[in-house]
Amino acid sequence: MADIPKTCKAAALYEFGEDLRVIDVPVPQELPDKAILVKVSMAGVCGSDIHIQSGSMGIKPPLPCIMGHETIGRIAKLGKGRVCDAAEQPLKEGDRIIWGHPFCYDCYDCNIANTPAMCSHIGGELRLGYGMSPLDRLMGGFSEYEYVSPMTKVLKIPDELTDEEVIGVACAFRSVVSGFEKLNKIGGITLGDTVLIQGAGPIGLYSLLLAVESGATQIIVVGAPPERLALAREWGATHTIDIFEITDPKKRLEMIREYTGGRGPEVVIEASGFPPAVEEGLEMIKKGGKYLILGQTSLKETTFIPHYILQKNLTVIGSGGAEIRHFYRALQFIKSRQKKFDFSKMVSSKYCLDDINVAFANMKAGKDVKAAIVFD
Ligand SMILES: [Zn+2]
Ligand SMILES: [Zn+2]
Repeated sequence: MADIPKTCKAAALYEFGEDLRVIDVPVPQELPDKAILVKVSMAGVCGSDIHIQSGSMGIKPPLPCIMGHETIGRIAKLGKGRVCDAAEQPLKEGDRIIWGHPFCYDCYDCNIANTPAMCSHIGGELRLGYGMSPLDRLMGGFSEYEYVSPMTKVLKIPDELTDEEVIGVACAFRSVVSGFEKLNKIGGITLGDTVLIQGAGPIGLYSLLLAVESGATQIIVVGAPPERLALAREWGATHTIDIFEITDPKKRLEMIREYTGGRGPEVVIEASGFPPAVEEGLEMIKKGGKYLILGQTSLKETTFIPHYILQKNLTVIGSGGAEIRHFYRALQFIKSRQKKFDFSKMVSSKYCLDDINVAFANMKAGKDVKAAIVFD
């Protein structure tokens, strides 16, 4: 067994709107049964982290907290009784794993509604998951070590996949897989459909990959900056519209109509996190269309015309969070298409923990597709 240090470095948020501080926090020396201590190798910086830091996120953690909810690492210590991962693969110290949110499996939402992704205790009093960890609980990824609770489902990462290829599974990709599961229940993407994706960040890009593999004929990505749109084209977007080049929503609507024979796209996926995008999506979408909303994590208000939902007979689906099967399916997708798509391009820059505020600033400015914090 590797030596476990008494303390480790972690980045914590003390005040909304302020920089994170790198501090020393205690590392648990004894583990309850089935808990895991992970030596973190990579932690992704997410759009949600930017919202959490600024205080505009729907769920507000009590402060101070250790943030970071997209983590990969190796098992430093394995609690008694945890012998397999969620796919029944045996686990041992040194294995590289990824893990889901620690749902309580004790509340109404977990048990009766059968929607653990909406577990009442996420962000609640128990402060489970989502990088909102009290300093002494070490349940955030921006830390050299992370504690994985007994009820958290984990998955072993296939050896042939790199951290860079896989880090997106911890948040954006599993969210997209979960959203597509809901979309597929109402018919999903049909061969020959046009799919419009609003937003070219990780959620938009993973949505693009699933749309490509679903047989869509045209896939239009509306977003920015040019580097992300170039990756979108490389991964199969037939058209891209740069929102900073075409700033007038009316002009964008015209272009979408032109690409779709005046009808609009059958499926629209909102992955921008920008509230006014919803109004634009409802205008652009074809009659009878399906609108999947994946990106709206902030509490900012916007206006839209509800009449379009009725008049166009739209189906609007919201999807947030995911369960461990979505992580698994995302991993399998990457494994099976590793040669077809360069998944490592999702990580555009790597930073050490001491430079975490630079990583946040670059994510905020849209300079990175995904910034990742890496550890030795
Ligand atoms: Zn995230
Ligand atoms: Zn629950």
